[in-house]
Amino acid sequence: MWFSKSIEEVLKELKVDPKQGLSDAEAKARLEKYGPNILKGKAKKSIFRMLVEQLQDWLIYVLIAAVVITLFMGEYVDAVIILVVIILNAVLGVVQEVKAGNAIEALQKIASPKALVRRGGVVKEVGSESVVPGDVLVLDAGRFIAADLRLIESANLQIEESALTGESVPSSKDATLTHTDPQTPVGDRANSAFMSTLVTYGRGLGVVIGTGMDTEVGKIAKIIDTEEESQTPLEVRLEKLGKTLGKLAIGICVLIFGVAMLQGRDLAEMFLISVSLAVASIPEGLAAIVAIVLSIGVTSMSRHNAIIRRLPAVETLGSVNIICSDKTGTLTQNKMTVIQYFSTAGEVTVGREKRNGATEDAKLLARAMVLCSDATYEDGEATGDPTEIALLLFADDLGLERKALNAANKRVGEFAFDSDRKLMSTLNEENGRFTVYTKGAIDNLLNISTHVLEHGQVVPLTDAHKQQFYAATDNMSGKALRTLGVAYRPVDSVIGTSEMEKDLILLGMVGMIDPPRIEVKASVEKARNAGITSMMITGDHKNTAYAIAHELGIAENISQAITGQEIDAFTEQAFSEKVSGFRVFARVSPEHKVKIVRALKAHGNIVSMTGDGVNDAPSLNAADIGVAMGITGTDVAKSASDMILTDDNFATIVSAIEQGRNIYNNIRKAVIFLLTCNLGEVVAMFMTLLIGWEAPLIATQLLWINLITDSLPAVALGMDPGDPDVMQEKPRDPEESFFAGGAGIRAVGGGLLIGGLTILAFWFGYYEHGYSPFDDVVPVDTLENARTLAFMTLVACQLFYSLAMRNPVKSIFRIGVFSNKYLLGAILLGLVLQLVVIGIPFMQEAFNLQMLDVQGWVMVLFLGLVPLLINELFKIFLRVRQRKALA
Ligand code: ATP
Repeated sequence: MWFSKSIEEVLKELKVDPKQGLSDAEAKARLEKYGPNILKGKAKKSIFRMLVEQLQDWLIYVLIAAVVITLFMGEYVDAVIILVVIILNAVLGVVQEVKAGNAIEALQKIASPKALVRRGGVVKEVGSESVVPGDVLVLDAGRFIAADLRLIESANLQIEESALTGESVPSSKDATLTHTDPQTPVGDRANSAFMSTLVTYGRGLGVVIGTGMDTEVGKIAKIIDTEEESQTPLEVRLEKLGKTLGKLAIGICVLIFGVAMLQGRDLAEMFLISVSLAVASIPEGLAAIVAIVLSIGVTSMSRHNAIIRRLPAVETLGSVNIICSDKTGTLTQNKMTVIQYFSTAGEVTVGREKRNGATEDAKLLARAMVLCSDATYEDGEATGDPTEIALLLFADDLGLERKALNAANKRVGEFAFDSDRKLMSTLNEENGRFTVYTKGAIDNLLNISTHVLEHGQVVPLTDAHKQQFYAATDNMSGKALRTLGVAYRPVDSVIGTSEMEKDLILLGMVGMIDPPRIEVKASVEKARNAGITSMMITGDHKNTAYAIAHELGIAENISQAITGQEIDAFTEQAFSEKVSGFRVFARVSPEHKVKIVRALKAHGNIVSMTGDGVNDAPSLNAADIGVAMGITGTDVAKSASDMILTDDNFATIVSAIEQGRNIYNNIRKAVIFLLTCNLGEVVAMFMTLLIGWEAPLIATQLLWINLITDSLPAVALGMDPGDPDVMQEKPRDPEESFFAGGAGIRAVGGGLLIGGLTILAFWFGYYEHGYSPFDDVVPVDTLENARTLAFMTLVACQLFYSLAMRNPVKSIFRIGVFSNKYLLGAILLGLVLQLVVIGIPFMQEAFNLQMLDVQGWVMVLFLGLVPLLINELFKIFLRVRQRKALA
């Protein structure tokens, strides 16, 4: 039992030196021996099961019935065609499902937690699956634990073990304990940490004692299936629409059956007519097309630094009208440099000759700051919080010997930084004397300090001193500098965290620059044009925050900035009324973030909120789009988010919104196109049957069109390149109907037109041979010729019409005829397939087609282009009207 052994014993057995960790070679060897550190989850769906699922569909049932009946009727060729189409359709469906699944899985992998391990003496981040027994893991707040550990160091370490024990109150850990009772339950093993649990506070170091299925979670095989398969709201809506239309289709079939009976047609024909109609009108695959377009979209987004964790987020992104963003690292570069410091002796700008000119005050200040930080900077290599790295560099510039200083001042206690207190403290021992060092937000430090160092003397902190500090803070923050104060207090012995942050002696403060990211200003502007308001939410000082917000074009006036304290002074109601007027929320804590999101949402806004810290999960959950930082974000923030920014950049949020809008538009194009096609077929079939003609298309032809030639352009429309003007439009109202903005009209108009043209082509087939569809006796060849014309025309209309679907208003020349190569490929392939069915004799026979004469081909081409041309003409009318409305 690892937990009943001492740290030394454990390390010896696992053959690892905690200061060095395993060597890379050893880690590799162990990985081969023990296997990857993964829990064997639910078995993946088998291909066979996917195939079976594809067959569980209304349309397929109808078709299977058709196969059986056509067999009975002795129409073997038809039966075979229908069967082939069913199989082809199912196989294509499975291929798409696998591809979409793989895309999503790849994203989940990128977003999965990493582990901080010490290998070969350096700490690095590796994928959790490559952690091996004997690895030394570094634990910090907000991180999921990658394997089972025996702790070897712990500083106020608290771990939430609900994944394992169901207990949501974090348990305190202590590496120094050894549990002698071998029966100690998991929940009481304070010297151990377990896979899949979460560090909520403090720091620690542990050596891996078990990985993969050989962990406590693995043993109880309680596999938490984190990502349940779920449909996005749009998929659900479209599936519902599909079902409604499907029912309508059945209704039409029954109606036709009745009409056909009255007309005295024969039973077999009636049956085939009904099947054809069902095929034509059941809009299969609406939800499937959404899934395909979404998976293509999110894969492309991940290449642009935005990883979508929950698919519905893509739809929501298009509706976002407020982006709440952190400041540090997201709007700024998070590259801090101390350029000023202040003590009661006055303000000093750090110049070139820092080292020589450094005052005693400055040295004391830097010394305290170095001792009270966790960052490291050695040989040009830095780890840790950029704020702290800046402090180390500041100390180096002043000529401080950091190594010697750290060696002489052992850290014996600490109170970790958190964004509520905005303070961090350490307790250090030097030659038997203990000192507390506290650094953090200067306003908070002033509240807990009683003295100040003035000309080397500790004197009581007076109001005059405070005024001096406030003025200096105003001065620095007005220049967009981030300020950080530091204080200390000698104490007699080791004290607990609750005793540390009081009665301090203030040393002074520093001001550091953190330049804004260059690309952000343009992104803020772009967002504004797109009807999206950007807001800054930060733990930093109001003035600093405002100065940067002003520079970036987020805020124009200081009255648009508010602090957390001021928020607290409002009632919830009053705050909610005022919230829309603010652009900068400064000195806020994670709870304020939740308040802000709720207040904004109460006004019907669709809010995206960024977060990185341990306590950010509630606000990320509350927002419509929770955005976590990929670089600085904790695992908790990431797992609560809908989207992760791999570059922590504000500009990426704006570009994700742009892509989200484009993806939604593409889904709409694909779906409207499919519906238009179905409607065209229904119109052609229904109208002709009503007036007592022969059916212009037979079941196999309709099947071919519906399941093969229609689907290609639909998928290609889903991959349409984004419209460069999409960010000139207002955000989409989430309640807006899928058919808004003329989409419904385009579907109905297009469908009627395509159906009408098909009927015209059918009629022409009779006409060119001197017959009429109303004639009672017509040679079979003439009927087949007329059907071939209808079949070819219908497909040509649909293929060419897909080009017009690319944009509801802009002409195809404006968007570029060649800018969607997939669509051109799909159209070409569709045309070639048509030539194949008509050109290869056995196919021609199977589909009951006749080779067309020149006149016939000209007719097909001419009629095929009509819907595209009419749509383009209609767009000209729309553009003129738009221009008039603007004038
Ligand atoms: P944002 O929320 O935009 O990322 P931020 O990084 O300034 O802004 P926090 O990290 O919560 O937000 O910091 C808030 C304040 O806490 C800072 O203004 C600073 O005064 C103080 N602070 C930040 N980092 C430390 C630290 N490592 N030690 C002590 N105090 C810190």
